Amino acid sequence: MYDYKAAFKTAVEQVKSEGRYRVFADLRRVRGQFPKAIRRRADGSEQEVVVWCSNDYLGMGQHPAVIGAMRAELEAAGAGAGGTRNISGTTRSAVDLEAELAAWHRKEAALLFTSGYVANEATLTTLQRILPGLIVFSDSLNHASMIAGIRNGGGERHIYAHNDLEHLEALLAAAPADAPKLIAFESVYSMDGDIADLAGTITLAETYGAMTYLDEVHAVGLYGATGAGVAERDGVLDGIDIVECTLGKAVGVMGGYIAADAMIVDAVRSWAAGFIFTTSLPPALTAGALASVRHLKAHPELREAHQERAATLKARFAAAGIPVMRSESHIVPVFVGDPVHAKMISDLLLEEHGVYVQPINYPTVPKGAERLRFTPSPNHTDAMMDDLVAAMDRLWTHCNVARLPAVA
Ligand SMILES: *Cc1c(COP(=O)(O)O)cnc(C)c1O
Repeated sequence: MYDYKAAFKTAVEQVKSEGRYRVFADLRRVRGQFPKAIRRRADGSEQEVVVWCSNDYLGMGQHPAVIGAMRAELEAAGAGAGGTRNISGTTRSAVDLEAELAAWHRKEAALLFTSGYVANEATLTTLQRILPGLIVFSDSLNHASMIAGIRNGGGERHIYAHNDLEHLEALLAAAPADAPKLIAFESVYSMDGDIADLAGTITLAETYGAMTYLDEVHAVGLYGATGAGVAERDGVLDGIDIVECTLGKAVGVMGGYIAADAMIVDAVRSWAAGFIFTTSLPPALTAGALASVRHLKAHPELREAHQERAATLKARFAAAGIPVMRSESHIVPVFVGDPVHAKMISDLLLEEHGVYVQPINYPTVPKGAERLRFTPSPNHTDAMMDDLVAAMDRLWTHCNVARLPAVA
């Protein structure tokens, strides 16, 4: 008989032997004290830690406006949405949120999904069904959720070298002129922190008759005068046909969405299985996201503080000889280049210094490009940075990891 147990064991052991077995930190976020949290160790004892790798980039997950809106809606409407959007799950706060999101990105309509992953997977799969023969041009570093959607669609796809518009143009030029085409890419790439050339990509799309699909998951709330993303910052909102974002990172809550022309949104709403057949987000959650988005729109100083914190941390690491990688964004990656080292440094930072930063290993980044990825927020103080840089400096010496000249 088949030995199921052995197969699962082998699967885990393979991951362990490659040094990329993941252990999650058991944390309790403390509202009002972000980025501080209480860690519970395996033996049940507790430790206060500073979280340096949260995607709650602006601390909106603890903002009084968000908590207040969630609490009020929970009291008013109850816990769950009660069904799929088709069957009883369309709640008023979801409808209001979609209108707010559409306006934010200057689109006619928006559509909520249960997460950004689902938004990408469902929409990209569905576009290939709505547009038979669609050829998808996908950046080589696109997120797993985009790749899943593009693959599930089953149509022709071409991968272009990361942010390489010459390569993209060569691929576009080689495709039949009258075929439907879609360029799928991100604005801020969250592992390297680089930013795509939106205007250049849009020009190519116009030249070759392609649609543009932009993932702004790591930019929404963070870039542009009202926080609508890099497309707003760069003044090219109109050149993006479909924008996809999360409500789980800078917005601080949970959920995902697309925004686009009403006709596109209506088609996806009518065809996407990942939208149709799943219970919609709870009303308290959509109300919290709505309050968060309204706050983010009105508070550009949060974005300024965020950029200042990231620039300061980069400069402080560089001054200490820590190999901080070049990044055009708020992401602060530090190169380690070895999965065992990355995990060891991360473990020691946590246990001995109360610094929580998760190692980033394959398959999230290529083998040999393992790193630590810091995401300072406006809530990370100078004193927290002092502690972090001192701890990193000690560990870099202790673990004998390469210093600055090895910057990738
Ligand atoms: C996190 C992430 C997603 C998925 O968003 P969730 O709301 O967390 O499911 C999509 N795209 C990118 C680039 C991401 O980093």
